[in-house]
Amino acid sequence: MSVVVTYPALKRVALAGGTHGNEMAGVVLAKYWMKNPAELQRKTFIGNTFISNPRATEKCVRYIDFDLNRCFTSKMLNTSATEDPSYELSRAKELNKIYGPKGSSDAFDLLIDMHNTTSNIGNCFIPMATQDHLTMQMLNYVQQQSLFSPCRAFIADLPLEDAFSLDCVGLHGLSFELGPQPQGVIRGEILQRMRGLVNCAYDFIDLFNQGQHFSECQVEGFQVTEKVDFPRNADGEIEAVIHPDLQDKDFLPLHPGDPIFLTLDGETITYNGDSVVYPVFINEAAYYEKKLAFWKTKKITVTVPPIQVQKN
Ligand SMILES: [Zn+2]
Repeated sequence: MSVVVTYPALKRVALAGGTHGNEMAGVVLAKYWMKNPAELQRKTFIGNTFISNPRATEKCVRYIDFDLNRCFTSKMLNTSATEDPSYELSRAKELNKIYGPKGSSDAFDLLIDMHNTTSNIGNCFIPMATQDHLTMQMLNYVQQQSLFSPCRAFIADLPLEDAFSLDCVGLHGLSFELGPQPQGVIRGEILQRMRGLVNCAYDFIDLFNQGQHFSECQVEGFQVTEKVDFPRNADGEIEAVIHPDLQDKDFLPLHPGDPIFLTLDGETITYNGDSVVYPVFINEAAYYEKKLAFWKTKKITVTVPPIQVQKN
């Protein structure tokens, strides 16, 4: 039997939309909940909803100068405005002041960030760290709700100082990443799913705060192993596109010899690895500039110990 891990009640909970200003489910819902908070009220805590990148949201672009969701490494947060005068870095520091500081006991108890992707990833939960048993128990709780099935976990597990996303400013953090949805567009079913997931996460927090015991569980996740770029020419232009057989196959097994790219000459490029991998974020629009055609991941199972709120 594993020992029960305890955490203080989650009293300060924050929910962000518009970290990427053209990912519309988070933008639309955050704006709605800021005006109509009743839906997210729970007995044991009051959530604080905000727009993280107001200028990008207003223009309906991903960012103004730089990707805000890459600004939260300890190094970036310590960079001076003279070294980097970008709007997003100054906004990141502001958010770190309000909801952090990252890694300190003054930080908000939990930060949830709402994202969309053009990839066909369905419902995806990105925990800040698999060692954070509370977030992993929340993931298990969400995965058990048939409404959101499947809700897969994408796991990067970076050390805290290298973690670059907004959610890592909180003591606990996670992102919901829902797709497929074009940038600048809101699709009704994505809106419904995001809304349901956030409400489900809030229900979990409320149950946890009220003293519910969450038993040991096994959680399946997809852990990042490698970044794969498009084939490119000497000028950096792409020379092949995602193969039609791979498009929309996020989280499904890719076997050695399976097609991955189709060149502009009509030639198929196959996966030449020696083991099965699970591609994720296939053909995400915002990742062309990051030189990323998809992530290779491997399937893992994480054993999460039982948790309960600390009694005081
Ligand atoms: Zn995003």
